[in-house]
Amino acid sequence: MRKKRDRFSGYFNRATETMPPGEREDYQNRILREIVRYAHGHSPGIRERFRAAGITPEDIPTIGDLGKLPVTEKSSLISLQKKEPPFGGLLTTSHNRLRKIYLAPGPIFVPEARQSRYWRWETAFYAAGFRKGDIVQVTLSYHLTPGGWMLEEPLHSLGCTVIAGGVGNLDSQVKIMHELGVTGFVGMPSFLLSIGDHAEKLGLDLKKDLSLEVSFLTIELLTESMRNSIEKRFGMVARQGYGTAEVGAIAYECIENRGMHIADDLILEIVDPETGKRLGPGETGEVVVTLFNKAYSLLRFGTGDLSYYDDSPCPCGRTSARLPRLVGRLDQATKLRGVFIHPSQTDQLMSRYPEIKKYQVVITREEKGDEMAFHIELEDEHIDKERLKTRLQAAIKETLKLRGKVECIPKGSIPEGAKTIEDRRDWR
Ligand SMILES: [Zn+2]
Repeated sequence: MRKKRDRFSGYFNRATETMPPGEREDYQNRILREIVRYAHGHSPGIRERFRAAGITPEDIPTIGDLGKLPVTEKSSLISLQKKEPPFGGLLTTSHNRLRKIYLAPGPIFVPEARQSRYWRWETAFYAAGFRKGDIVQVTLSYHLTPGGWMLEEPLHSLGCTVIAGGVGNLDSQVKIMHELGVTGFVGMPSFLLSIGDHAEKLGLDLKKDLSLEVSFLTIELLTESMRNSIEKRFGMVARQGYGTAEVGAIAYECIENRGMHIADDLILEIVDPETGKRLGPGETGEVVVTLFNKAYSLLRFGTGDLSYYDDSPCPCGRTSARLPRLVGRLDQATKLRGVFIHPSQTDQLMSRYPEIKKYQVVITREEKGDEMAFHIELEDEHIDKERLKTRLQAAIKETLKLRGKVECIPKGSIPEGAKTIEDRRDWR
């Protein structure tokens, strides 16, 4: 019998991961001042941005001052790169000095500088339980995009053996996993489940014939039902990480499963996309990141993802705040009375009511202000509608922090392919 490793005690970097919050802020402020000065001195794009905002690096001595600099949206990188190829003036070195260049969806060119720990996923893998001696199958693309590469490098720093599985090829993936005694999986949760289905079809027992013990899941959201299914079927631990092609690691789960700890080596703000102001704990806004990266100046980079943070203590001992989950993409969200609502939130809420066959959220502008109504089609028209309405209205208030009316409408009223949230407000 192989000796089971201790996968869940310790830290990759105890000093930064368990730093008291006040100390972390001082530490981040110190790096921020240095990075702002450097970016302003070496990146023409950043200099131009400071000039346009009428500020100098001295105006941003702390995280609290970052708001003086407008957010650079991920979507604007495409036009910035077109205007000033190849990196929109954000690179502080010439591009023939980079280690690698990728093309991420957008399409956006992504640089990788010649420095160690460029993508910074080591802490995340350690927290997910990956250890020296693990044989890890990375099933992300190694072609053009940074996905596979950015997750492979940190595994080497941890002392793991990596198999570049790439995407697809279920037969080969199962063969590798089985015959090489793979202990760690990296990739999308849905792909891991497909591998499981395929292995079973080939007559393998997922627990007895495979040696998987840990998985690091990314790209798509790991729902709790997927997590349960993976942990139960394979007898392994499933943890997720959040990052982007431009930034690398942003946040990751620890063993406690209480949300994703924000990485220590960047500054993460949750920002109101309309006012650019930083929001407090529990308030949903855009994830905006300032990277401690001298080669590529991403200061206040708007990821386009919506989330909120929780700064209550985590029993794992890591002291950074956590993102309980990603709410969705900003471009699919609607704002009502200062609060974001996203189809993923309303879907999750409605999934708790099997008696509802179909629903649509309709937002209108009334004299008293904006109103939200949930139009619902029932599976069975004869149930106690008033009771359901009362329960649902309470659940809407509780989960979305907004009042919403509930109206039962006849079956078939919501057209096929209708938007989940229909905004009928007149913006003129
Ligand atoms: Zn934790």
